[in-house]
Parts: sequence; C-alpha cells; structure tokens
Amino acid sequence: MVFFRFYIFFILVLLIMAQGCASFGTYNPATGKKEFVAVSTRQEISMGATVHNRLKQRMTFSNDPVKLSRLEKIGQRVALVSDRQDYIYQFYLVEDETLNAFTTPGGNIYFNTGLMEKLENDDQVAFVIAHEIGHCAAKHVAKKYQAALGYDLIGSIILDQVSGGGYAKSLASLGSDVLMNLVFSAYSRKDEREADLLAVKYSYLAGYDPEEGVKTFIILKKHSKGTMVPHMLRSHPDLLERIENVEKEAKRVKLEYGKFSK
Ligand SMILES: [Zn+2]
Repeated sequence: MVFFRFYIFFILVLLIMAQGCASFGTYNPATGKKEFVAVSTRQEISMGATVHNRLKQRMTFSNDPVKLSRLEKIGQRVALVSDRQDYIYQFYLVEDETLNAFTTPGGNIYFNTGLMEKLENDDQVAFVIAHEIGHCAAKHVAKKYQAALGYDLIGSIILDQVSGGGYAKSLASLGSDVLMNLVFSAYSRKDEREADLLAVKYSYLAGYDPEEGVKTFIILKKHSKGTMVPHMLRSHPDLLERIENVEKEAKRVKLEYGKFSK
C-alpha cells in the first residue's frame, strides 16, 4: 500500500515535471521552437522496429537494384541535411501502385514503386522524401503518438525512461495494432504545412530544385483516384495554398542559403 501511494505520488511528480518542461522544453531546429516530447529516440526506434515487422507481413519490398539504389542515393543526400540526426534514416521501396510514401517512428521511410514511376525526375523524388524527413525532424510522428495516448501512458513512458526501460511495459503492452493505426492516421494541417516547408529547405540544401515540389503536387493530384489518395494529399490544406506556400518558401530559401546550383 505504501509502495502504491509512493508510485502514484511519483507519477504525479513526473507529470508535473513534464508539464513544466513544456514551457521551456528542448529546442528543435526543425520547428524553431522549444518543445516537450516524452517519447525518446530510443523508444521511437523500438516502435519503428515493431511497425516494420508488421509491414513486412502485409507489404512486398522491392529488390530492384536500380530503383533501390536511386531511392537510397537521393534519400541519403536529403537525410544528410535534415535537422534531425539522432537516428539513422532507412529507405524501403514498396511494391505498390498507389502514389504514396510514408514514415514511421525511428526514421524509416517507405516509398511506393507506383509513385516512383509517375514522378518525372530526381528533384521530385527528393521533394517527397524531404517531406517525409520533415515529419521526422519536426517529430510529428512522436507528437501524434503522444497526443493520442493521454497522460496515463505518457507517465509510463517517462517512468520507462527514468528506470532505463525496465519499469513500465507501456510500449510492449500497447500492441502493434495501436501503433499501426497511429502510423496511418492523418497528420494535422499544421504538421503538413510544416513538413512542406521543411521539404523545400531540405531538398534545396541537398542540391535538388525545390520548385519541382509544385509539379510533384500536380502529379499526385492528377493520378489520385477515389480512395487511393496519397498521404501527402490526405486531409491536407488546400492544394493551391500548398503550392503557393512551396513557391514562396523556395524563393525564401534561395535567398537565405544562396543561389541554387546543381
Ligand atoms: Zn505529410
């Protein structure tokens, strides 16, 4: 009983600390803000591994050496300029006709063959990868997860970190179904805008033309039918607004980081 009371007290103290942290938090260069994210990088990597095991059961990964090396080459160039470098980005090519790409916790990026076939050049592929890496750098996946879990589990996650991973069984007990639902649930409009702006910055810094992002949106729109709406267009801000934002941001980054040279 005494232990139980102490446990509750401990959780409350941790939650108050967590709330307190939110006001100063850790500076994230991708968002330009101080933010409190309870899910640690180690936990993200562990969640990513769970999700990857599930994806392996339901998807076929391509072994085409030419396509894979193209994805890897462009992906690593973009990953190198990402604001987030505390995990290794990994790229997987999925045999799927849907024009889609998505990211899971821990820096895993999945890119469909259907999307690669429809995009016209490396700059457009780079823009899509940079959008996904933008979600990673801004910690959108971890934040989405955190928002869905509520205080109970956040308390457990913090306990898990304090105890070095042996205390709370929060992550294991959550089950991969919850994780899978979270991975495929939509980001907020704000997060999508943020990922678009980071896509412009990262693709430019990696040596690609960010203005190809505009054409990427047009291609996605043209080839999306019915329920086969790609992640990048799902519950997103208005397409024209996104195109305008990308055009404006492309001009801004060129001024800030110097003239584009390939
Ligand atoms: Zn997105």
